[in-house]
Amino acid sequence: MTLTRTTCPYCGVGCGVLAGADGTIKGDPEHPANFGRLCSKGSALGETIDLEGRLLAPQVGGKDSDWDTALSLMAEKFGAAIRDHGPDSVAFYVSGQLLTEDYYIANKLIKGFMGTANIDTNSRLCMASSVAGHKRAFGTDTVPGTYRDLEEADLIVLVGSNLAWCHPVLHQRIAAAKEARPDMRVVNVDPRKTATSDLADTHLRIVPDGDIALFNGLLAHLAETGALNRAYIDSHVNGFDAALAQAQQTNPLDSGLTEAELDEFYRLWSGTQKVVTVYSQGVNQSGCGTDKVNAILNCHLATGRIGTPGCGPFSVTGQPNAMGGREVGGMANMLANHLDIENPDHRAAVQGFWQSPVMAPQPGLKAVDMFRACADGRIKALWVISTNPAVSLPDADGVAQAIANVPFVAVSDIMARTDTGDLAHVLLPATGWGEKDGTVTNSERRISRQRAFLPAPGQARPDWKIMCDLAGKMGWSEGFDFETPAQVFAEYVALSAATTDFARDLDLSLFADADYAALIPTQWPANDKRFFADGKFYHADGKAKMLPITAPAPRAAGDFTLNTGRNRDQWHTMTRSGKSPRLGAHLAEPYAEIHPDDAAALTVTEGDLIALQTPTKTAVLRALITDRTAKGQLFAPMHWTRQQSSAGWINALAAPVVDPVSGQPASKMNRVTATKF
Ligand code: SF4
Repeated sequence: MTLTRTTCPYCGVGCGVLAGADGTIKGDPEHPANFGRLCSKGSALGETIDLEGRLLAPQVGGKDSDWDTALSLMAEKFGAAIRDHGPDSVAFYVSGQLLTEDYYIANKLIKGFMGTANIDTNSRLCMASSVAGHKRAFGTDTVPGTYRDLEEADLIVLVGSNLAWCHPVLHQRIAAAKEARPDMRVVNVDPRKTATSDLADTHLRIVPDGDIALFNGLLAHLAETGALNRAYIDSHVNGFDAALAQAQQTNPLDSGLTEAELDEFYRLWSGTQKVVTVYSQGVNQSGCGTDKVNAILNCHLATGRIGTPGCGPFSVTGQPNAMGGREVGGMANMLANHLDIENPDHRAAVQGFWQSPVMAPQPGLKAVDMFRACADGRIKALWVISTNPAVSLPDADGVAQAIANVPFVAVSDIMARTDTGDLAHVLLPATGWGEKDGTVTNSERRISRQRAFLPAPGQARPDWKIMCDLAGKMGWSEGFDFETPAQVFAEYVALSAATTDFARDLDLSLFADADYAALIPTQWPANDKRFFADGKFYHADGKAKMLPITAPAPRAAGDFTLNTGRNRDQWHTMTRSGKSPRLGAHLAEPYAEIHPDDAAALTVTEGDLIALQTPTKTAVLRALITDRTAKGQLFAPMHWTRQQSSAGWINALAAPVVDPVSGQPASKMNRVTATKF
């Protein structure tokens, strides 16, 4: 069996995979992300490539149709909305599952030709707060860390990250490094005890959103104990005094930790030069997620613990191509190639390069606001691509109603039946993993190829091709006459070269003459390039910025705090991973973790059903009684959809509360009551 060298479609680790059409799956020993390792999800990929449930032909009005009919109708509806109601009456909602080429074309089409930045993505639920925090501190959305830093660190602090389940191969790499260097210390900061806590030397059980109190307290401790790097601050950082003054106003006990726990952690952090702070959704998915990111970055900047091996902050992305989406400007508040949509010179340069008729004049609607605009009638034509917001966004019932309120909805997907697809006027069959070609960027800025090893089923087309075909129908053939994803990638690289006048981190010159077909996994701007090694950042004066961060008030006692997240063996709404019997055996039904004392107070025993309620919604789940979840808190996986388990579907309970800076929903801080069912 011939094996094709490709990349796993699940998490942001971006493992290399050798895949065969007969379902053979092996870890790629030559891929620098995983060196042959795979986790349970990656190794079960061969069980997920059948065609059961696939959408194989365009559908119009619920009936099989053809591409010409479907795309002609879309062109007419989007064109009419723009003509009659203006560009901001149309919107795209896309996905971190898209390949970079898909993402690039989607952004070019809507921003440069339709004339609106109403394009947002399910990556808004993943890392938008990290993007905003990076831009505030560094002047760019730069992730300075590499996976090798994790192996070279003497202290790894994992904040709000269940790496063992959500980025398993990174967890394996840390475990191997720790075994080889027993002096390496791992601290896990998380309200919940997880499989990741089991690897850690110390689990710091903060209260939900206690991160700012913890890291503000660390900054104050560093100042008190003379552990700041004054020379680094003076040369490379603005905003130190205000940030420290605010930190000194914070009571670190508001983190929920004891004085002894704080003292031990602060001594360990300040006494270790090579510290990597890894953070993920527990930081990002919060009403103060951007501030949490900056509270962490403040500590690294105040000590110069950034830009050197084994050192620095490291945001790990949940999705396989959240990073590639960021690079091509895949969100409503971004422009292509890390350029700034709010900068008129940047907009003009991109429009000139694209030779496009218009350019979105300002940022568009972020995810939650986009669906509010669907609900109140502002959006007249919506295209949902490769994602399922009717079940995955907070207030998912409200989102479903909002989508149903849009006069024209198109959905591109690999599956025939999804909660969002059921609301569409036009369904477009897309090729899936193993059937399409393109690139993805993993959490350490490494661009890898996804390669096809299966034929496109039925009439399915790659997403970038569907978008180009629609553009052609709307009269823009010239800007979208790509025949291969290699040509799209080449234009993306050329845009980078054409805009070098604008100082920023993204530099793709390494890829200018790359052989796309044979492209090996490569980090931008160069393999082993270390950002910020020279103390130069991307604000106008070349300095980084520390921000004064106010800790949120401790939460009042009362209802339960419902935290949602991932299971080890499932991915998102289980469209692909749900096909594998092996993966389904891990945790087979919706459940809610509840502390033994809370279970006793509710007279709930193991296996009972409990009802979680908001004023308008109820979910019924199996009780899993464990002290891994703290008293007053609950944890439930977010995978089950309305179609799979109408009772156990949890996202209906999530309130659409967002971080005011990033617009990222606070998916880990939902208020519910709980009763025995
Ligand atoms: Fe795929 Fe992530 Fe597992 Fe690697 S760690 S095999 S990228 S799911």
